[in-house]
Amino acid sequence: MAYNFHFDPVDLPPECKELRKEVRSFLRQEIASGGFNPNSGKGTFSKEFARKVGAKGWIGMTWPKQYGGHERTHLERYVVIEEMLAHRAPNRSYATADRQSGPMILKYGQEEIRKTILPKIASGDLCFCIGLSEPNSGSDVFAASTRATKTDGGWLVNGRKIWTSNAHNADYMIALLRTSAKTKENHRHGLTQFLIDCKSKGITIRPIINLTGQHDFNEIFFDDVFVPDVNMIGEVDNAWKQASDELAYERSGPDRWLETFASLEALVQRAGPSPSDSLAEGIGREVAHLATLRRMSASVAGMLQAGKTPGVEAAVVKDLGTNWEQALPNKVRLMAPPTGDSDPDVNDDRFEQALRHTTLIAPKLTIQGGTREVLRGIIARGLGLR
Ligand SMILES: Cc1cc2nc3c(=O)[nH]c(=O)nc-3n(C[C@H](O)[C@H](O)[C@H](O)COP(=O)(O)OP(=O)(O)OC[C@H]3O[C@@H](n4cnc5c(N)ncnc54)[C@H](O)[C@@H]3O)c2cc1C
Repeated sequence: MAYNFHFDPVDLPPECKELRKEVRSFLRQEIASGGFNPNSGKGTFSKEFARKVGAKGWIGMTWPKQYGGHERTHLERYVVIEEMLAHRAPNRSYATADRQSGPMILKYGQEEIRKTILPKIASGDLCFCIGLSEPNSGSDVFAASTRATKTDGGWLVNGRKIWTSNAHNADYMIALLRTSAKTKENHRHGLTQFLIDCKSKGITIRPIINLTGQHDFNEIFFDDVFVPDVNMIGEVDNAWKQASDELAYERSGPDRWLETFASLEALVQRAGPSPSDSLAEGIGREVAHLATLRRMSASVAGMLQAGKTPGVEAAVVKDLGTNWEQALPNKVRLMAPPTGDSDPDVNDDRFEQALRHTTLIAPKLTIQGGTREVLRGIIARGLGLR
């Protein structure tokens, strides 16, 4: 049996420790000055915050300086992301562009687009959304049927995307579009990626309200939307390889195991300094899981830094991470001391709020960025089992 993946052990170097202190101090100041409230459970979109983070040099950290980047390491970027998530900072307006759209443009975009778009992402001025899913192509992204047809100086786009997170706030989308039919030999053939200005004529964005009652998802209709040639990303008809890269970027970070962390943090606060033995044991077990996921996720960042493409390792972290974080709110609920038994200084409302919010978002965690079953298929292939 082929064994095709492993996790290189990684220790964060001293510059990461310094950076962590700097990021924590910035975030604590932001919270203290009312810049954001980590316990609001409300939307986390703020362009103002994005611009502050951009000014700190914490967006596009690993990109070349000539495109507005900062030529820092993937491990330094890892530390910044981890702190932002642990503090529940309002990173929605730049996180997608920083994590996957920017790296895609850097790797496959045309020079003119790199020069104009990447510096604006790095400064926190641009928000991106992801145009992969369609009503009949979710897990099988390569079945996309929204068409781009060649016209003078560009392409005309017609069709529909769905489940597009944050599209109503986005400036741009990177969309996977059908430019010709798939072939007998390669069912992934015939797709091309494009950078689309979300304010283009012919685009209609309709909200889909999610389980928490918030407007995050959208469906997007394209009606003869003109996209200039310069906005084509990569090769015509051959986007399947680059779209797979994009999904690897999407899956590899701490974003995939820190979404319900607030419930564990709230439990630790509620437990106070002298929890019962059984509660201490329960918290200890979850913290041990968390520590292991951190080591694995940092290892993925280390492999990216070494120029590797750890697609299977990223899928393993996402699968283990999302399963752990999905189960966490319910475990926290079962472990929590009854109201009245907790530390008297603890705010029970905050605990309830954290638990309510994380319980409601838990179901989505094993779907977004690739479902559990699909990830396990990728892992099985990595192990040589299919
Ligand atoms: C919170 C959230 C945010 C999202 N944001 C975006 C976004 O910004 N942009 C975007 O393009 N999409 C987005 N999506 C969509 C997401 O990528 C898709 O929902 C996901 O890929 C699954 O596709 P589907 O919903 O069509 O389900 P389907 O593909 O129809 O799957 C249904 C079920 O069948 C299983 N299944 C499917 N194929 C296989 C297989 N080969 N083997 C075994 N089981 C299989 C799946 O695991 C699942 O359980 C988001 C989804 C969520 C939940």
